[in-house]
Amino acid sequence: MTGKMRPAMRRDELVEEAAGLGRRFATRAAKFDSEAGFPYEDFADLRDARFLGLCVPTEYGGLGASFADYCRVSNELGRHAPATALTFNMHCVTMLLVGQIAADLHWSAAELVTLQARRAHLYAGVVERGSLHAQPFSEGNAPGATAGIQTVAEPVDGGFLVTGRKIFASLSEAADLHNIVALSPGDDRVRFLGVPAGADGLRIEGDWDPVGMRATLSRNLVFDRVFVPQENEWLPPGGFDQAATRWPHFYLTLSFTYVGLMRGVLDATQEYVLRSGRQAHPIKQHGWAELQVIYEQARALQHAVVDEAGTDPAPDSLRRAWAAMVAVMEGAPQMASLALRVGGGRALLKPEPLERLFRDARCGATMLPWSVEVCLERLGRAGLVEGTEAPA
Ligand SMILES: Cc1cc2nc3c(=O)[nH]c(=O)nc-3n(C[C@H](O)[C@H](O)[C@H](O)COP(=O)(O)OP(=O)(O)OC[C@H]3O[C@@H](n4cnc5c(N)ncnc54)[C@H](O)[C@@H]3O)c2cc1C
Repeated sequence: MTGKMRPAMRRDELVEEAAGLGRRFATRAAKFDSEAGFPYEDFADLRDARFLGLCVPTEYGGLGASFADYCRVSNELGRHAPATALTFNMHCVTMLLVGQIAADLHWSAAELVTLQARRAHLYAGVVERGSLHAQPFSEGNAPGATAGIQTVAEPVDGGFLVTGRKIFASLSEAADLHNIVALSPGDDRVRFLGVPAGADGLRIEGDWDPVGMRATLSRNLVFDRVFVPQENEWLPPGGFDQAATRWPHFYLTLSFTYVGLMRGVLDATQEYVLRSGRQAHPIKQHGWAELQVIYEQARALQHAVVDEAGTDPAPDSLRRAWAAMVAVMEGAPQMASLALRVGGGRALLKPEPLERLFRDARCGATMLPWSVEVCLERLGRAGLVEGTEAPA
């Protein structure tokens, strides 16, 4: 802990600050999208605004945003610059996992001492040196967060040697730390390790030319016996499994960006219809009304679910969370598609924001571990087939 504690910023102050940042990011979004380049300028602004410490507790010098506060801030950033919000999410989720979420879990006295030390190390890097964290978990082997992990962390003197491969590693060239999940031989507890960028044996490979969310720079990472110091094990071993099974609402965080994107679709549609002078047409008004309904339903459900997030959720709460994921991750492309119809042909032309939002919106449903297919599969079994509630 440090002596630089400040009072936590209120949620409305944080959202207002995010709105100011977001409006600046929006002016750059088309350029990063067309280049599939990383928005370094946006992250410099986030750093200057102390937003890298958004979800760092105040006693460690951060802004002290809770999970529910973060949802609203992420909504606002996603409204203006979805790809930046999505990569910023990878950073913020690590802060929440090690902070608010870890605080809700069960630890032995020795584990608690370790956790406190790791928090202090991690948060000092963020608050004092502006370290940016990524979260490349995906390996393309299994849908679950704790299943199919083939990355190996071999314990050695002072740390681990990590060998493996991660796909879709957002912030691949921008992060200072790549926070991965890995297993040690003969030990089934998942380890959550921060691999330093630029470490010997770490390679970034593959092209990045996707349909949407192009400014996330989500290339592949290859680890060949990369040394990770012991103090970069952010949670005691098994802590990640505990978070994944006991605090599963943290998987919702990806959808915060997409509710923001949905709001961005509303903004862009309204602006476009007014600019083209077609606001008096009943058919345009009908489309505009439908867009608002899809957005408000998804946003209301997301916020209700986020406000009940915590340890060991009841089956009904978990089901609502899966339903919220589907409402958002399918609602976003549905809205973006409808918005293009309402806009008409010229809304399809670059650099109209609707064209970009349409492409960005399509990406959310594929994102694991709570992809739309996974959530629908679980919802389809819930209440009908035994053993559906396994959240990880
Ligand atoms: C823009 C973008 C950024 C990303 N950034 C990151 C990141 O920073 N970190 C990270 O870890 N990952 C990231 N991902 C990866 C993402 O979370 C998924 O892992 C990836 O999209 C899955 O790729 P896939 O569809 O080829 O996987 P596959 O594993 O082949 O899955 C195929 C499809 O089948 C479905 N499916 C598979 N198994 C089941 C099952 N048992 N039940 C129901 N449905 C199933 C999945 O939902 C998925 O839609 C990112 C993805 C995108 C698009």
